[in-house]
Amino acid sequence: MILGLDVGATTIKSAVVDEKGKIKEFKKTKNRVIEGDDFLVSQIANLINGYKEKLKFDKVGIGFAGSVDYKRGIVISAPNMGLIQNLYLAKTLERKCNIGIIIDNDAHCFGLAEKKSGAGKNYKNMIAVTIGTGIGGAVIVDGKLYRGANNTAGEFGHMAIDASSNKICGCGKYGHFEALASGTALSKLYEEATGQRTESELIAEMASKGEKIAQKCIIHIGHYFALGLANLINIFDPEAIIIGGGLSEVELLWNTAMNNIKPYLLHKNLANTKIVKSKLGETAGVIGATLLF
Ligand SMILES: [Zn+2]
Repeated sequence: MILGLDVGATTIKSAVVDEKGKIKEFKKTKNRVIEGDDFLVSQIANLINGYKEKLKFDKVGIGFAGSVDYKRGIVISAPNMGLIQNLYLAKTLERKCNIGIIIDNDAHCFGLAEKKSGAGKNYKNMIAVTIGTGIGGAVIVDGKLYRGANNTAGEFGHMAIDASSNKICGCGKYGHFEALASGTALSKLYEEATGQRTESELIAEMASKGEKIAQKCIIHIGHYFALGLANLINIFDPEAIIIGGGLSEVELLWNTAMNNIKPYLLHKNLANTKIVKSKLGETAGVIGATLLF
């Protein structure tokens, strides 16, 4: 049995997963990133120790929303989690919890889980994309996760989509995919139009009830999402793209993206690329974290 944690910018998801992939005690905790690194580390440690009192497990896998040095257990940076830089997360947690810990990028975990037992099960060469607060990704080649020289392969959120854009990304650069098409991008766009700071989930809900400005903002980011997906198809020519994360459930965004990919594709065969939603839903990241061992 392995404890899996999926540490996102707004929520920490956790569960114990057994050898057959069965989930126990799935839990969601609010991540209060504004409290800083030390708070985050103790929050995760408390969560792990809390599980230790209830269930037996011998390792902990963590998916973290940021660039992660997987071999050394360090969070290099996490643009959507304040000023985290070179945080020795695995070692610190091992000391606090007295258990073996491996960490990796959260979207890598998502990709691993969808490949093993989700929507990517039947594909050898696939791309995984998560769209929530930010945009993350994983590249699976010949059934294996492609990590790159620094383990940061698949950071699709930071590909430049519009170099002339004035939209600033969490990483500090302009016109990145994430700055134009994520939940954060949606909130900012809506705020520009209405003067109200609103969470992306709420904007999606308003849009589904017919609120025109909310709908317009979602359609706007949906076009950029299409552009980013088309770039990925042109670059990788994958068998499939598996998409997860909270915003993948927003129908208007999904439909806008799906209807606008084609014009950007290099040749017509690429239009046959399967684009499917995550099968494991909100548990994908947690399951993937337990597959790191
Ligand atoms: Zn960026």
